[in-house]
Amino acid sequence: MKTINFGIDLGTTNSLIAKYNDGEIEVFKNPLGQKATLASAVAFRGKRILVGDKARNLLEKDPLNVFTCFKRKMGTTDAYFVENLKKEITPIELSSFVLQELKNFIHTGEEINEVVITIPSSFDTIQSNATKTAGIEAGFKKVYLLQEPIAASLAFANKNNLQLEEEKKWLVYDYGGGTFDVALLQIDEREMNVLDNEGDNFLGGMDFDNLIIEKLVIPQLEKELKEENLWEKFKQKENTYQKLYFELLYRAEEAKKELSRFETTEIEIDIDDKDFYTSITINRKDFNSLIEPSVQRTITLAKKILESNGCRAKDIEKVILVGGSTLIPYVKERIQSSLGIEIDSSVEPTTAVGIGAAYYAGTKIAQIEETKQEPSINPIISATPEYEIIYQKNSQDIEELISVIPPENIANGSYRITRLDGGFDTGLVTITDEISCFVDLLEGQKNRFNLKIYEPNGTLVYENNNITIIHGKYNIQGQLLPHDICLEIDDIDYGVTRLEAIFNKNAVLPLKRTIYKTATKNILLGSEEKLQINIVEGDDGSLPSSGLSIGFIEISGGKLEKDLIKGTDIEIDISVSESRDLDVTIFLSSCEQEFRDSFKPTQRSISISKIEKEIYTALNNIEKEIKNNDGEYELLAKFQKIRESLIELQIELSLCNENDSTDTKFKIDNNKQILIKEFDQLTRFKALDSNISEYQLKLAMVKNELSTISNEFYEKKLEKILLNEREVLNSGNKYLIKSKIKELEQLDNELFNQTSENFISPFLYYKSITEYKESKRAEKLIIEGDKALEKQQYDVVKHVVYQLHALLPEHLRNDKKVNFNDQDKTGLS
Ligand code: ADP
Ligand code: MG
Repeated sequence: MKTINFGIDLGTTNSLIAKYNDGEIEVFKNPLGQKATLASAVAFRGKRILVGDKARNLLEKDPLNVFTCFKRKMGTTDAYFVENLKKEITPIELSSFVLQELKNFIHTGEEINEVVITIPSSFDTIQSNATKTAGIEAGFKKVYLLQEPIAASLAFANKNNLQLEEEKKWLVYDYGGGTFDVALLQIDEREMNVLDNEGDNFLGGMDFDNLIIEKLVIPQLEKELKEENLWEKFKQKENTYQKLYFELLYRAEEAKKELSRFETTEIEIDIDDKDFYTSITINRKDFNSLIEPSVQRTITLAKKILESNGCRAKDIEKVILVGGSTLIPYVKERIQSSLGIEIDSSVEPTTAVGIGAAYYAGTKIAQIEETKQEPSINPIISATPEYEIIYQKNSQDIEELISVIPPENIANGSYRITRLDGGFDTGLVTITDEISCFVDLLEGQKNRFNLKIYEPNGTLVYENNNITIIHGKYNIQGQLLPHDICLEIDDIDYGVTRLEAIFNKNAVLPLKRTIYKTATKNILLGSEEKLQINIVEGDDGSLPSSGLSIGFIEISGGKLEKDLIKGTDIEIDISVSESRDLDVTIFLSSCEQEFRDSFKPTQRSISISKIEKEIYTALNNIEKEIKNNDGEYELLAKFQKIRESLIELQIELSLCNENDSTDTKFKIDNNKQILIKEFDQLTRFKALDSNISEYQLKLAMVKNELSTISNEFYEKKLEKILLNEREVLNSGNKYLIKSKIKELEQLDNELFNQTSENFISPFLYYKSITEYKESKRAEKLIIEGDKALEKQQYDVVKHVVYQLHALLPEHLRNDKKVNFNDQDKTGLS
């Protein structure tokens, strides 16, 4: 059982590689300069590729050939143009150069086949896949992903050799260069669990550098240079100011770091070809007010996670700070004062994630090595019976249980377990019932045990040398799914398609599920009709456009071997691995056909025109909702707020162009998605509200009917319907509420039919209809009905109504209108 051992923090600003060695972590240093972190920067010099600080230092001199912060563009189609190569390079390729450089740090020359790479917790499936691809391109055969806050907390828990007496909760607050992550953890004396995490992929220290330029440097420069719109000019790719912009970015970052130590600092600006020099003084106070809104956003996210998990400040023992931006004194002050929880900055903020990644790698069993070395695991016996060995790989206890499940039909013999250092030995133990025994552990060490199993006649039948238990280290119990994974299905009632969650946010990975859906249309052999299986990362119940499509299988008539008939079952198997690989199998039992796919999208395109269109559509929808909800002031205020924020984004977008070299486009896209989700939620709850009022209306009608006829049989029926009323109404599930409404409707009909007088008004209505299928017969029936009405023979009236109903033309018989546009249907419900 060999473990992976190598962990990498592939950061926006800095990266790091570390190795797990028998419970200790070695952080590899750059052979040049002996620094542990490697700047995530790549420079192209002629044919040479430079990575790290030496690349970053060239940013000022040669900005068109040096690239940084590409992690923010992982998973997008945006590429970088390399002037020296005259070709484009993708964020995945740039990341893979960083990973390759990190491999050079390993002085032992070991070959790494498998590795753990960390990602921000809110990375979606596409961004996660892009990271895995970068790993594979860098030469690793298998890449495991680990969420950064989890890594940081592993580093924290294991570094401090914690001895906890009782369960605690911590908040990990990771504010780096490009992203912000916050996670809520629960830890006791034995294990650590992640309860929830939140994050923003566009919130980090590099925004501060840009703010310093935009708000503090530019105004002074514009004055002194007598220029206008300098900020717009700065951000344009390929223009005279671009070099100056990158120079200033570098200086602004240095100034920001200085301000973490001193009250004031200077930025010097030298423009050679303009023979211009100036110096700008920045003080802490100005800087703090500049970054206040960003810091506030991190606090809001931290509060959100506490609130949604029902935690108050006193329930959280500490906030563990990681990420370079937590070195800013104002950030620390704000966290402490706004959350009212003690902060802990005892871990080195820039290495914690890499160290945690290595701890995790130390518990992950290598798969590639395993298969290669399989024969040597058990060199003595060739055709070994299958014994299953169960034990905890990490333990905080001084003894641990090892249990063995033998294969069936094995005669009881004896076993022996020894610790490889010789300090523990069970001696030969006769197997009476089961093989299960406590073994002693050496504190703070990696304990390896040997297990031998003998037949009753003393022949060795099984041996395993690889039972390893690490004492004193925390392991993590499962990573969480950061967003719902949904299936797009038809919502017949509203004539739209909606998302239905297959897996919910915060479910523990890996996940596997089989669901059954019903075909909502016929798909005839060879026809153009199709079934669309669209897997979307988004919120349960929301509109598909507010999420991110991660995989799509289309089953058209051309792919079928038999007709697929409306109403048949469709079996869908879906699994998500711990590293977020998504596999889907669709089985059509009626035609015994299987469709299988693994979704590995690594790119999605984000263009200004696409964002523009989405904002425009959303604004139109909001406009409609505003008109439809006249008088509902609270709701209207919320719509207005979203509308205003979207318009602000629209303006921001209009000032941005595809050539913009900053992240503006991505940030706007990110914010747009958040706003559309908010809007979607408001309208969804409204739909739910209208279902609940429909339910209540029906209930009132039924109660009213019942009070006039007072019939015990029907009263019992109503009681039965009301039995789980509360659960259903509180479920927030509109389908459940609808099914309750149906039950009430049925009862209402039955009650209605009980009283013949109820048929007078339908009869009068039916009298006015002129399009009966058999008009002669209908005429006769109407005459008969009129007579009965005169004589107050209501039973006869009822009978006439039934018969007339049967003669109604199709379009009048079914008054439920379905306004589906067939092309928009998925074919699933
Ligand atoms: P990432 O996880 O994005 O690679 P890090 O956690 O290494 O990032 O943090 C990098 C960010 O922290 C950068 O924006 C950097 O400017 C900032 N930073 C580093 N040191 C300091 C400091 N002393 N004061 C303020 N910011 C700092
Ligand atoms: Mg980081």
